[in-house]
Amino acid sequence: MSAARTVAVLGAGAVGACAALALQRRGFAVTLIDSGEPGSGASYGNAGILSCSGVVPVATPTILKRVPKMLLDPLSPLAVRWSYLPKLAPWLWQFVRAGAPDRVEAIARALAPLSHACIGHWRDMLGTDVFRAQVREVGNLAVYKTDASFETAQWAWDLRRRNGVRCEHLQGDALRQQEPALSPDVKHGMFVPDGANVVDPQATVQSAAAQLRAAGGTVRLGKVERVERAADGRPALRVDGASESFDMLTIAAGAHSRRFVRDLGGDLPLDTERGYHAMLPTPAVAIRHAVSSGDHEFAITPMASGVRLAGTVELGGLDAAPNWERAKILMRLAPTLFPGLDTRDAKLWMGFRPSMPDSLPVIGWLPGSDRVLLAFGHGHLGLSFGAVTGAMIGAMAAGAPPPVDPSPYRAERFG
Ligand SMILES: Cc1cc2nc3c(=O)[nH]c(=O)nc-3n(C[C@H](O)[C@H](O)[C@H](O)COP(=O)(O)OP(=O)(O)OC[C@H]3O[C@@H](n4cnc5c(N)ncnc54)[C@H](O)[C@@H]3O)c2cc1C
Repeated sequence: MSAARTVAVLGAGAVGACAALALQRRGFAVTLIDSGEPGSGASYGNAGILSCSGVVPVATPTILKRVPKMLLDPLSPLAVRWSYLPKLAPWLWQFVRAGAPDRVEAIARALAPLSHACIGHWRDMLGTDVFRAQVREVGNLAVYKTDASFETAQWAWDLRRRNGVRCEHLQGDALRQQEPALSPDVKHGMFVPDGANVVDPQATVQSAAAQLRAAGGTVRLGKVERVERAADGRPALRVDGASESFDMLTIAAGAHSRRFVRDLGGDLPLDTERGYHAMLPTPAVAIRHAVSSGDHEFAITPMASGVRLAGTVELGGLDAAPNWERAKILMRLAPTLFPGLDTRDAKLWMGFRPSMPDSLPVIGWLPGSDRVLLAFGHGHLGLSFGAVTGAMIGAMAAGAPPPVDPSPYRAERFG
């Protein structure tokens, strides 16, 4: 009997941990490597939403029009570190081009199959018992304080409907029945009944890593310095000055993936949208759903250890220190939706969304290679799409048909 082919997965976030488990289930001998504990990157601090409605790209004609005003508003969901602008310019240019109306329609169509498949794949990935313990299938709610903000959002809800997302407009008593603690100032809600949220994003990722380990896979702590090609052409990882080669490699290092692609002679326009959270340990208000503010674009999610306020986009690269004011803004805004919300003793966090300018992930082979797979760039939706991406990577490595057609996510789309 021939030995199982070896695969390294670089990065143990939601995407890498699921890819590793899916590869193992396809018969590969898997090493999952990360510089930290599994799920301690962006996958640690996200809003925990499994978004079956995640078809609207970040760049849209509406957003592009609002950008100048947003940059002047200190409470706005968008901030830019101006010193980073020269580095960001090529990414921004592609971002603006992706916001053209015909591109937005095409991107939404490309995101739809991942969105529709995402929750089912988490169930398959985790197994029914762990899934039930981790995931609340109670729907998601987006809320709006004014008629104007609700009206502005209608084109996005139409786009979602055109792409198969079920949603229901709620007002007055019907809205309060879903979410009793909402402020009377909230005028409109859009309920997405098929949405879900996890109660502890890091624990969800760690469940996948634990299953990998329990079935004989290796979960290794180590900082990868470089990706290399061994003399026989196989991919290799340099860790602590030593190089180890594998039959295959999956690069799933989230926002840090670009330099590993460069190590292999390629390049892709991956940047980061930094985001923040404030974890409230004693919220004092019962919240039933993951609630998104349509006015300020952040989420309020009930979790196992409290309520998490998460969101905001800061364009500032991987190196700048956090600006904790961005997280404190969420603590000022959230009680306007849930009066009485106790924000004392909040724990603040900042992390790096791995973002492609067209809001589509990269899932597939490194151009020109049949040994290196790429799985990164999931932006605002990497928790949601972690399991389905993992299943796709497992299938592609095994030469089997992936559960979702991978052609829209090919690296080659960037030329
Ligand atoms: C505030 C905020 C809210 C969000 N809310 C949601 C949400 O509600 N729903 C949703 O679907 N998505 C959400 N997201 C997005 C989501 O968190 C990310 O898209 C997702 O976590 C990306 O997963 P990943 O596995 O690609 O990357 P990561 O989780 O960042 O994992 C990459 C891993 O690579 C490792 N790594 C990097 N460099 C090296 C190296 N040199 N050597 C070894 N290891 C390395 C890192 O340590 C890390 O663990 C949110 C993001 C933010 C910031």
